[in-house]
Amino acid sequence: MANAAAAVEQLRSTLLGDVVVPGDAGYDAARAIWNGNIQRRPAIIARCRGTADVAAAVRCAREHDLETTVRGGGHAVAGYALCDDGLVIDLSEMRGCRLDPTTPRVRVEGGALNADVDRETQRFGVAITGGIVSHTGIGGLTLGGGIGHAMRKFGLTIDNLVSCDVVTADGEFVVASAQENADLFWALRGGGGNFGIVTSFEFTTHPLGPTVLAGLLLWPMDDAPEVLGFLREFAASAPDEVGMMGNLRLAPALPIIPEPIQGTPVVALVLTYMGDPDKGMAALRPALELGEPAVNNVEPKPYVMHQTMFDAALPHYRHYYWKSHKLGPLTDDVTGVVIERARAITSGLSSIALFTFGGAVARVPEDATAFPNRDASHDVNLVASWLPDDPEADRHIEWARASFDALTPYSRGVYVNFTNDDTDDRIRSGAYSDSQWQRLVDVKQQYDPTNFFRGNANIRPD
Ligand SMILES: Cc1cc2nc3c(=O)[nH]c(=O)nc-3n(C[C@H](O)[C@H](O)[C@H](O)COP(=O)(O)OP(=O)(O)OC[C@H]3O[C@@H](n4cnc5c(N)ncnc54)[C@H](O)[C@@H]3O)c2cc1C
Repeated sequence: MANAAAAVEQLRSTLLGDVVVPGDAGYDAARAIWNGNIQRRPAIIARCRGTADVAAAVRCAREHDLETTVRGGGHAVAGYALCDDGLVIDLSEMRGCRLDPTTPRVRVEGGALNADVDRETQRFGVAITGGIVSHTGIGGLTLGGGIGHAMRKFGLTIDNLVSCDVVTADGEFVVASAQENADLFWALRGGGGNFGIVTSFEFTTHPLGPTVLAGLLLWPMDDAPEVLGFLREFAASAPDEVGMMGNLRLAPALPIIPEPIQGTPVVALVLTYMGDPDKGMAALRPALELGEPAVNNVEPKPYVMHQTMFDAALPHYRHYYWKSHKLGPLTDDVTGVVIERARAITSGLSSIALFTFGGAVARVPEDATAFPNRDASHDVNLVASWLPDDPEADRHIEWARASFDALTPYSRGVYVNFTNDDTDDRIRSGAYSDSQWQRLVDVKQQYDPTNFFRGNANIRPD
């Protein structure tokens, strides 16, 4: 701890932002992340205010040989943002966004959340692909790829990335773009936080909103074979403008869910028309005419509101554990397993999410970024969740693991942002292709040869 004490003194005299240590009034709040199941006690939390603070924190960590993690939005289920006894370089006060209406590109600080970006871009009638929960960090989300309602129309979040301001493992500042440090720019688009700390992202934007046609259709679980069969066909035939995802769970006690259905197994489709709402109704009609949904709240609504629809279901500080696969088309075999695992769910807070790829995602060449399997049809996320005092936590975790095992025969790899306790081998061969992995290792060797940035789905230098 001697080096930590000296580091605290150094950081307090050099940083603009606060330096929080155990015993400080704000310490427990500063070390709390989304997944309440992760409890770690860093020696120092450096709440950076800009690139100068981040660079000073990196240099200080190196000088005092401190284990270091980087915190963006704090959403990684594995708790990558935190370490025990080391230094957390915390970007959560760096949430500024600025849209340049003349380009129109948006500059986003490294600790911004989806909500920050949506708010600023929507003011100007544009959007980027963000995640489906408004409090997810744009930093981690982007560096892993970035999937969401808009991806079939606008591509992954990384497909909209123009440049990054980066603090490297030796505390230097570089810009990464197609023109400058192109190898680093390639690796940052899917390789996670392995190569440096991005203090600012620059994205292209697309006209959208402020109103979109979007919402939820929900049926009893008995209808799931038909609904998931429909999702398979719709994914293949719907225009790029249609974002779609499936969700299977016990119906939550929300005002939009009729009381008799609450607590019963249900299947839902979440639909988003990423274009003129007047044209959306025709595109969404096949889904709207499917069976007799118990809930249909597909209607014109503010895009920013739609972007928060999952917030209440996935709040901060509850306990979570998840496992995930990319999948090919939803064959009857796959949907059979998904439905069987949904029926076996052990917690009213757990769920199975089925993101749907296609459209613009699939049109980007595989080697253009470090995001593989762009031709995958879906991503399944098996999300176990429970209250902190639930004595059945192990049973809920076991449900996610058994569900993961049951779907393993159909796996097309793993989305790196949905990794959790995955093995090194699964990250190497599941999250990347062989050629992508080799290229990532080469860039890692060049920019971070000592593996300073290892609080992530780690890519070791060779
Ligand atoms: C409720 C919920 C909903 C989600 N929904 C989606 C979704 O719709 N689409 C999707 O693609 N993903 C989604 N995710 C996954 C999400 O993309 C990852 O968890 C991602 O890592 C979150 O980034 P963060 O900055 O919030 O997390 P953190 O835990 O702070 O960071 C995650 C990793 O990224 C690194 N990192 C973060 N910011 C930076 C930065 N600026 N520079 C360098 N490294 C950085 C961290 O060091 C860490 O390794 C969701 C996650 C949750 C919990």
